[in-house]
Amino acid sequence: MKIKCDFCKTEYTIPKIPAVPVKCAICGHSWMIKTRARKNPLLLFLAALCALISAVIFSIVAVSTYRSHMEAKSPLAASIVKTELAPDGNGINHFIVSGIIENRSDEFYSPPNIIVLSYDENGKQIGSGEQFTPPVPILESGARAAFVYTLRAPSAGVKKISVKLGAFEK
Ligand SMILES: [Zn+2]
Repeated sequence: MKIKCDFCKTEYTIPKIPAVPVKCAICGHSWMIKTRARKNPLLLFLAALCALISAVIFSIVAVSTYRSHMEAKSPLAASIVKTELAPDGNGINHFIVSGIIENRSDEFYSPPNIIVLSYDENGKQIGSGEQFTPPVPILESGARAAFVYTLRAPSAGVKKISVKLGAFEK
């Protein structure tokens, strides 16, 4: 069998586990090799099977809980209060989006990223949106939090802006 020095990690091959402490020939460290209890392979298999089944059940429960939060309750909502234009250092205008996120449920929630979407004059979405982290890490039941975000993309060609929450995207 193979053993490894606890200290310098040198490996040795020995015929059987000695009852006395062994000493490493390289670093001089000595240690006691613990005998491993023989485990019944059938019991090991059953234990692994139980762990697998409970993991599967757990993930099914987790997914369905997540789904019901997402679809049925939709506990968090983001909305725009106002949009303004402000020029950057090069004189290019950018939208400043002010809004709120609110928790309409009776539970605590950690809000997801907020996504700002821009649309052109035909109502077609421009790009994939800009994301930013929520203004607060936790929203209590009924709580609201204000956010202000300046879009990196220039305002030219943008006719409409909307916000949505990242985790609720499907
Ligand atoms: Zn050693």
